[in-house]
Amino acid sequence: MGYNIAIDGPSGAGKSSLSRAAAEEIGFMYIDTGALYRTIGLYVYRNKISAEDESAVASALSDININIKFVDGCQHVFLNGSDVSEDIRIHEVSDYTSKVSAFACVREFLLRTQRELAEKYDVIMDGRDIGSVVLPDAELKIYLTASAEERAKRRFDELAAKGQDVKYETVLHDVIERDFRDMNRKTAPLKVADGAVVVDTTGNTFKQSLKELTDIIKEKLK
Ligand code: C5P
Repeated sequence: MGYNIAIDGPSGAGKSSLSRAAAEEIGFMYIDTGALYRTIGLYVYRNKISAEDESAVASALSDININIKFVDGCQHVFLNGSDVSEDIRIHEVSDYTSKVSAFACVREFLLRTQRELAEKYDVIMDGRDIGSVVLPDAELKIYLTASAEERAKRRFDELAAKGQDVKYETVLHDVIERDFRDMNRKTAPLKVADGAVVVDTTGNTFKQSLKELTDIIKEKLK
């Protein structure tokens, strides 16, 4: 059994970049579970399946094979044999993903993959329900958050840097809508897991947030 650190929180709180950097610092594997959900979102988007149609999404799952490989310590995700690590990041896929990830069939489909990775490796795993559902016995649970405006600004800067043409107002609206969906879905809603340490990164630089996070982790690992 690996040593498991669960990091949950809303979109854009800096979970992935902070988790990746913290994992590197302590020599753990970083697992981005959002990438797994996004791969299903991408498949549904590409195949023009309605993201609101649970039975259509459920039957599509039998055509989806997801694999994770680590290249230079970096997680790559494969959809039916093709590396889709870049394609899953496009803006439209975010929306599809948050819709399909509300379905119990989708969460069940990805549960085993996530648990297998946590068994095999010492991991920092980030997501929405890692501490509450996927790894309820994780040695450390952290809930990483920041204000919606700050999270939207970070996401906007990220998309702009990739040359994606979106308005800040659209990104903020999407962040708020996604939070609502993630926090209010029936299956595995985003919430602070029992025993989780809450870290609010609003107003922090990346360096400050990373220090706060790694201090908590190192204290626990002592
Ligand atoms: O973390 P990221 O923003 O890439 O996740 C995309 C979407 O996938 C989230 O908005 C959420 O709906 C879903 N997700 C989830 N459970 C996870 C990880 C992501 O429901 N463990």
